[in-house]
Formats: sequence, C-alpha cells, structure tokens
Amino acid sequence: MTKAIRIHAPGGPEALVYEDVEVPAPGPGEVLLKQNACGLNYIDVYQRSGLYPLPAYPAVIGMEGMGVVEAVGEGVDAFVAGDRVAYADVPPGAYAAARIMPWHRLVKLPDAIGDQQAAAMMLQGMTVEYLIRRTYAVQPGDTVLLHAAAGGVGLIACQWLNHLGATVIGTVGSEEKAALAKAHGCHHTINYREENFTARVRELTDGAGVPVVYDSIGKDTFEGSLDCLRPRGLMVTFGNASGPVEPFNPGILGQKGSLYLTRPSLMAYNAKREELEASAAALFEVVTSGKVKIAVNQTYPLSETAQAHRDLEARKTTGSTVLLP
Ligand code: NDP
Repeated sequence: MTKAIRIHAPGGPEALVYEDVEVPAPGPGEVLLKQNACGLNYIDVYQRSGLYPLPAYPAVIGMEGMGVVEAVGEGVDAFVAGDRVAYADVPPGAYAAARIMPWHRLVKLPDAIGDQQAAAMMLQGMTVEYLIRRTYAVQPGDTVLLHAAAGGVGLIACQWLNHLGATVIGTVGSEEKAALAKAHGCHHTINYREENFTARVRELTDGAGVPVVYDSIGKDTFEGSLDCLRPRGLMVTFGNASGPVEPFNPGILGQKGSLYLTRPSLMAYNAKREELEASAAALFEVVTSGKVKIAVNQTYPLSETAQAHRDLEARKTTGSTVLLP
C-alpha cells in the first residue's frame, strides 16, 4: 500500500482524496518507483475536472514525478534498483508516494539536478523544448508572443527563448508577475487584465505582428492572439487555462492573413523513445549549464494537493509547483 491522491469521479478540488492505494509488483516492462517529489501541472486540473476524461475511476492523477527505482519487472534492462529517474506525461498516476511506470517513459537524472527541481521541470521543460524548437523553430531575432509568461511553462520559456536569441513579449496577470517574468528574461510584459494585448503587440512590433504566438490560455485569448500574428504566422494553441476554444470557421485564418494553426501535445512530440531521450537531454543541458533556472516557487505536502489545485486555478502560483509525498 502507498499514500496517494485519487479522484473517484471528476469534480472540483474537493474531489482529490488522500488515501491508501495498492501498488502491485512490477510486471514485464515495468518499474516500481519510490517517489520523492511530484510535479503540479495545469493538465492535472483538466483531468480532475473531467475536461480531459480518464478511462476509469477511481484514478490516481498526476503526470510528472521523480524518484528512485525500487524494483524492475521482467525484461527491463535499462534501469536497476537505486537509479534516480524522472518522467512526464503518460500514464497518469504521479500523485503517490510509490507507483508503477513503464520503463520506456523514464529517463535517468543527472546528479546535478535536485529532486524538487526534477519534479518541477520535466513536463513544463520538455513542453517548452518541443514548442520552441520543433513546433516552430525559433530563430535569433524573432519576436514571439508568450501568454502566462510568469507561470511554470512561462518562466522556463522566457529563459530558453532568450538563450535562442529571441525577443519575448509575455502576458501576465499582475504587476508582481510582470516583474518576475522580466527577471527571467521576458523583454516586454503586458498585463492582459488591464491592457488590450493585441494592440500592444502591434505597437511593439511597429504594426508587423509576430511570427508565432504560444497560447495556453485558450478561450479568453484565442481571437486576440490570431490578431497578433503577421501574415502566414503560426498560432500554437496548447492549453485551456481559461476554458477550451469555441468552435470557429477556419475561414477566419484566411481573413487574418493565411495563418497556420496547430494544437500540439507533449505526448505526440515525445511518443518515441528517441524523441523523449532527445527532449530530456536538451532540457538537462540548458538547466545544468545554468541557461534555464527552474523556479520552484511553491511546495505542498501531497496530502494538501487540493489546496495546490485551488491556488493554481486562482492564478496565485508563479513558476513551478512541487508536491511532496
Ligand atoms: P501555469 O503555471 O502557467 O498556470 C496557468 C496560468 O494561466 C495562471 O497562473 C494564469 O497566469 C494564467 N491564466 C490566464 N487565465 C486564466 C484563468 N481563467 N484561470 C486560470 N489561469 C489563467 O500552468 P502550467 O505551466 O502548468 O501550464 C501552462 C499551460 O500550458 C496550461 O494551459 C497547460 O494546460 C498547458 N500545457 C500544455 C501542454 C501541451 O503539450 N499541450 C503541456 C504542458 C502544459 P496569469 O495570472 O499571469 O494570467
């Protein structure tokens, strides 16, 4: 048995129940992990609320964690007991003191990366990796628009975009968050609760617009984001913090300048083992070299995950958040 956070049905933060769950011995291709830290991500909110339904209930949610290998199942030769490993993305089940993982979704951690840092950065960091290097390969001199620049994905993206030589325009929900984003390399901040971000982006780009928008807000910002793009620019809608984007007529993309639209997911970009390894290696390189610092700005005991969800949804968190079993 282990302590875990389960949901018995989708719902609000109160649906997160801290209880004992059974952990089986690892089967073929599986690894048993004793977890030291888990990451909190906005996708956990979508899974808890039912926006992203799970195949069965009750279910332990959570998509990111790190720990030490306790035992390996038949056919696993990439890992041995005692290895320090981390993971992000499928399958859910991270909110637990121990869990089973398929070996092929795990990566070994460099010694230079601490436990909390690892749990904070795998999902958000590999997301930034694919968004700025593979969805759109950001070039030196590009000016890009990044929403929620002071969030978990946001602070990592500000720093990594800087390292690539881009100019970053970031939206934020408060003046404190503006200062934080700037301290992490965001060149221009826009408080989109007070200012029309589209008009400001046009102003900052002398009317030209940006080649790419990274939009994780969804419903509230979708149309405004399209209006920030230059002709044939790329709209990357990769999250729904304000709710899912409403259905729309693709003719809008033509009217606004032959725009491109993509809705990417980490799972699709890192589905193959070699993609996962390359993505993690790129992330480890920028972190261990100090180009990207991981801001673990909140930690909660695993038993208080419901409060962590409340704070995340109330826009009270900045940077990354870690849950401690
Ligand atoms: P964040 O730390 O960025 O938290 C979400 C932020 O969104 C808030 O802090 C807030 O910042 C902003 N926000 C704007 N409007 C709302 C609203 N109505 N309700 C709540 N928050 C709002 O979370 P993560 O770093 O974990 O994730 C960022 C986004 O990236 C999420 O949408 C997530 O789903 C997405 N994502 C997508 C992935 C993919 O592969 N497709 C993978 C990983 C993350 P502010 O107050 O500054 O506006």
